[in-house]
Amino acid sequence: MADKAPRIVVLPGDGIGAEVMDSALTVLGAVRAQIPGAALNLVHLDAGAGTYLKTGSALPDDVIEAIKGADGVLLGAMGLPDVRYPDGTEIIPQIELRMIFGLYAGVRPIRLLPGAPTPLGDARAKQLDFVIIRESTEGLFAHMNEGTLEGDAVAEDRLVITRATSERLFDFSFRLAQQRRVSGHPGKVTLVDKANVFKSMAFFRKIFDERAVAYPEITTDRQYVDAAALNFVRNPWDYDVVVTENMFGDILSDLGAGLIGGMGMAPSADIGDTTAVFQPSHGTAPDIACTGKANPTAMILSLVLLLEWLATQEAGAAFGEAAALIDAAVATAYAGGALVPYEAGGSDGTEAILTRVLENL
Ligand code: ATP
Repeated sequence: MADKAPRIVVLPGDGIGAEVMDSALTVLGAVRAQIPGAALNLVHLDAGAGTYLKTGSALPDDVIEAIKGADGVLLGAMGLPDVRYPDGTEIIPQIELRMIFGLYAGVRPIRLLPGAPTPLGDARAKQLDFVIIRESTEGLFAHMNEGTLEGDAVAEDRLVITRATSERLFDFSFRLAQQRRVSGHPGKVTLVDKANVFKSMAFFRKIFDERAVAYPEITTDRQYVDAAALNFVRNPWDYDVVVTENMFGDILSDLGAGLIGGMGMAPSADIGDTTAVFQPSHGTAPDIACTGKANPTAMILSLVLLLEWLATQEAGAAFGEAAALIDAAVATAYAGGALVPYEAGGSDGTEAILTRVLENL
């Protein structure tokens, strides 16, 4: 990858996806002017509910082929509540991408930017900085389109945990804790499950315990998901890396986003062994699309995650520098309470937040 610009597929998607993607690409352009070595070969393509309406496919073959040949994907958000498949299910190609490309590690950093709004009053919230790893290819989503309904009486879905994916997931989480430990974090992995009730979850915990042995310098903790929900609000600063099943991770990452100011503040990366997709944790937010109220911070920070990831893939140190530059600009933009996005009750929208970030680059 080192001798040519990494090829990145750009999928803005639907609703506010396109709006926040515009902001991220503007920031990228400004950074490239400062760090020419951080050049990306952007391949702009369409997928999502709008593409389904136009072409009959939400995730066209050319998009899948382009991703196969790419070094990563930058994605806005996809799906619209009113656009559905004939059977009534929602169009969610971002979840299909996780399945097709085996993107098992859903990385959701929960970091409160100094000065950004938070519902937490405790002073320790200022140190809030942990990462949720949501398993993203199996669990309760493994057979998401195959649930059954018997008459109008019984509905059933299946939850699947496999040893192969769990081992990769836990190894990923322990390695992340090792890396974070080097930069001053505690070096702790908390498993969130429901091992006291479900066979699948007891199996998940057994594999966690087995893999933990290989990382003796990392502290481990195990919490049931109901207790974890309480702890996320009561003492979230005690977490470092949290690893959990797909559905639990889906729910807890929105709770985490709430702690750091809202969905518009929460970036994410879906990482597999051969490719990775970077997108904000939020959806297409049709309620605020075209109003100028969308917060682009999560999208811009997802770009930061992409650039950091490229640096770890030996694309070149310039990508790490570009990531650090954008990250610092976002932090400075919020410092001292200078920005209060609409979603946190303020009056700063897409343009105001983008402008402030650009001023601080
Ligand atoms: P999905 O199921 O696709 O994740 P969702 O139903 O959880 O989507 P979101 O689109 O994430 O819904 O939006 C949830 C709420 O958060 C909405 O009220 C929306 O307006 C708000 N929201 C989401 N993203 C942003 C953003 N970037 N800026 C401001 N508000 C946002």
